[in-house]
Amino acid sequence: MVRLTVGRFEVFLVEDGRFWLDGGAMFGIVPKALWSKKTAFDEQNRIPLVIRPMLVRAGERWVLVETGVDTKPGEKHKTIYHIEEAGKLLLALKELGLGPEDVDLVINTHLHFDHAGLNAVLEEGRLRPLFTKARYLVQRQEFFEATHPHERNRGSYLPENVEPVAEAGLFEFVEGEAEVLPGLKVLPLPGHTLGQQGVVLESEGERLVYTADLLPTFAHVGLAYIMAYDLYPVTTLETRKRLYPIWAEEDYLLVTPHDPARPYARIRKGEKGWEAY
Ligand SMILES: [Zn+2]
Repeated sequence: MVRLTVGRFEVFLVEDGRFWLDGGAMFGIVPKALWSKKTAFDEQNRIPLVIRPMLVRAGERWVLVETGVDTKPGEKHKTIYHIEEAGKLLLALKELGLGPEDVDLVINTHLHFDHAGLNAVLEEGRLRPLFTKARYLVQRQEFFEATHPHERNRGSYLPENVEPVAEAGLFEFVEGEAEVLPGLKVLPLPGHTLGQQGVVLESEGERLVYTADLLPTFAHVGLAYIMAYDLYPVTTLETRKRLYPIWAEEDYLLVTPHDPARPYARIRKGEKGWEAY
């Protein structure tokens, strides 16, 4: 677990698990000759990734950004994506002396299974929300997409991560940018999905942004390094072009959800384009 401070916020970056995805799919139109210089890959052309929720202590409150990955769907799902060590998020909470009931606010950047996997758990054959005392914040648009999936995104939206929370009335819907707590806001990051949001912390002149899948790893910092999984890749490009200059100029620390090597970095525009440092 990596611990950071951003002004008066305490931030803990947790590795919930590891998985492997096809390198070609992860880099979209970028040929292997280029992406293979930026990441490790195995004999099946898959690249290693982590699942990295972020826990924030904001005064007396605990905010959990993303709930990691769960293996509720069973072994088949686990094998396809080669998910290892899932569920370590709960151990990390324990290390901090916390249980799921201590989380006051869950922020779902989007509702894909590798980001919202522990929204709910299976207990004695029944699904129930894991964070029973929390509100789950999600963009209204994202909730709509998750509950109206089509052939192109159905594999990513598993009803078991969404329905139990909705049935318990724990979702709180946001539309657009919103300050959730003093210095902590959600920020729309459309592209990967239309309703994706990131989280910005700002305190005492320090800034951090949780990028969600707008920037899945720092190997993706190049503007055209966009995943084939993105439903609206040109929107991803536009969102990056709008926000990268602000994040560079204002010295933001960026935290990505999937980078296996670097939990956080800053970005700048170098001679060959955008780079992480
Ligand atoms: Zn993801």
